[in-house]
Amino acid sequence: MRDGSIVDYLVVGSGLFGAVFSQQAKEAGRSVRMIEKRDHIGGNCFSYEFDDTNITVHAYGTHIFHTSDPDIWNYVNRFTEFNRYQHRVLTTHRSKVYSMPINLGTINAFYGVNLRPNEVESFLASKRGDIANPGNLEEKAISLIGRDLYEAFIRGYTKKQWGCDPKLLPASIITRLPVRTSYHDSYFDDLYQGIPVGGYTPIFERMLEGIPVELRTDFLKDLGYWRSRARKVVYTGPIDAYFEYEYGRLNWRSVRFESEKVASDDFQGTSVMNYADDDVPFTRINEPKHLHPERKFPPGVSVVVREYSLVDNDRPYYPVNFDEDKEKLAKYRDLQAQEKSTLFGGRLAQYRYYDMHQVIGSALKVAKAELSA
Ligand code: UDP
Repeated sequence: MRDGSIVDYLVVGSGLFGAVFSQQAKEAGRSVRMIEKRDHIGGNCFSYEFDDTNITVHAYGTHIFHTSDPDIWNYVNRFTEFNRYQHRVLTTHRSKVYSMPINLGTINAFYGVNLRPNEVESFLASKRGDIANPGNLEEKAISLIGRDLYEAFIRGYTKKQWGCDPKLLPASIITRLPVRTSYHDSYFDDLYQGIPVGGYTPIFERMLEGIPVELRTDFLKDLGYWRSRARKVVYTGPIDAYFEYEYGRLNWRSVRFESEKVASDDFQGTSVMNYADDDVPFTRINEPKHLHPERKFPPGVSVVVREYSLVDNDRPYYPVNFDEDKEKLAKYRDLQAQEKSTLFGGRLAQYRYYDMHQVIGSALKVAKAELSA
């Protein structure tokens, strides 16, 4: 569709930020057009039905929706119903299965002890050593759980996931995971949690209703043309690519997924099994049928998806945030600030390790400020 009309907003990228912004802009009576480089909408939230199994696979890794913000929850519920799934994660270390995040059950099983909750703090204190100001992921983790638990459950997994020594990573990554002195093993403690009953793609279809979307269309290949088609651009792709890598490339981690149909009702008994050890090449195995306890599935079949972490800066998933990245990012942010007719949003354009609810919150906020101006 290369027509002469000029829209209020050209939204680049159909992930959560782009979809929420578009939906809000359209609802506010603005004209919106969306372009998307891939051959599907939904960004990394995209989900699809695997053959005729009634199993919905999250194409880019298991996505659990969770938030404590009633506004975000009410907003997203306009576009889907959620099931009552509560996420629990298990991890395999040296062929034994433990519960994550680290909780009393993990600690007792790992050390072969039977601590009571009020004994955990002094027990961990005896394992921690003295790290006054933890300056990186490794130091932070050891200061929280001690070296043994760190080496068993965090070091190998983190090395695989981020492709580097955990000493080089920011402490903030590990503070995503709580450490619990009770047996409470729910991964998230948010007020609201669940999986969209029909998977994630229908959310995007509903948000984008009435908005023209052009797939397989790369904004950066024809920037001048696309700019001329809209009063404003909303860009949700990688920030370094937008500025033609002027200050060099930012570090991203990517993920490769290997899906397989297996002849089993239940392959691993849970939706996500992490593999903590360095010598197992994948970080985790997903078995998506467990995300939908409300569904009936044909007997004798399941789908499993192995996740391998790798570097592929053309398929960015996770911002790494090395010190060199922080320096480059500051410079890219200065350039962003000068782009008066472009808005930047989402994990890639902001180079931030956002969860879904945070992206929605940020898109609603940006849309409100923009559309009421
Ligand atoms: N992590 C770990 N072992 C685990 C799970 C997580 O070491 O079994 C660390 C790892 O560094 C990971 C971080 O905790 O990158 C955050 O984990 P989360 O589950 O939030 O990652 P995501 O689901 O976003 O990939």
